[in-house]
Amino acid sequence: MLTLEHVTHAYDGCPVLSDISLRLTEHRIGVIGANGSGKSTLARTLNGLIVPDSGRVWVDGLDTRRRAREVRQRVGFVFSDPATQIIMPTVAEDIEIGLRDSGLSRAEITRRVDAVLERYDLAGHRDHPAHLLSGGQKQLLALAAVLVTEPDILVCDEPTTLLDLRNVALIERTLRELPQQLVLFTHHLETVMDFDRVLVVDEGRVVFDGEPEPAVAHYTELMGLAPGTGAAPGRTP
Ligand code: ADP
Repeated sequence: MLTLEHVTHAYDGCPVLSDISLRLTEHRIGVIGANGSGKSTLARTLNGLIVPDSGRVWVDGLDTRRRAREVRQRVGFVFSDPATQIIMPTVAEDIEIGLRDSGLSRAEITRRVDAVLERYDLAGHRDHPAHLLSGGQKQLLALAAVLVTEPDILVCDEPTTLLDLRNVALIERTLRELPQQLVLFTHHLETVMDFDRVLVVDEGRVVFDGEPEPAVAHYTELMGLAPGTGAAPGRTP
């Protein structure tokens, strides 16, 4: 469970998050908002990548300010650009690196790596150079490399931004099937329509928090768009 208490953050004196308090217990939570509204900053506070200037973030009762290591073990984080996350030469090595300091036996590490390679359709690419994978496969690899560590919670910061439609569908289907609690920051409004809860962020504040349909309607209205069309009024075909 994630709890935020009066989270406030600024960059160079410019406020980015303003007094956000939330208790996130639902299985699948979506976060939507315009570019620059503070979503990435908010996402990064959830696993301690950013410690807010003031306020507290708790992960299963652990303060991200004090218990960074345990928090990172519990909260997996997937970035929008998989290149940020892929650091090892081959696919299997990139998955294995996350377990390096886990204290697991060699046999258990091999078992887990093999299982995620299989699960995410990467088994045939085991020893391939990671940088030669397609965009969708790279994002799957980034996801697999996080999930192999078996986090309780997964935070994804716009993981489909760089992908074509087919790969968007692949990643979304994968996320949908995860047993973990998921907090998905996304621009794809259709994706969150069957989520348990959707937050709308605007200028560093949560301006709507509730069911997906009214959340998306609130967001499209905020953007000056016609609800449900994703297009500006007067420009629908
Ligand atoms: P979003 O994910 O909604 O696009 P961000 O959290 O990335 O929003 O950014 C919110 C605001 O903070 C933007 O104006 C952005 O330019 C600024 N910002 C983000 N990261 C930094 C940083 N490391 N240093 C300075 N300003 C930043």
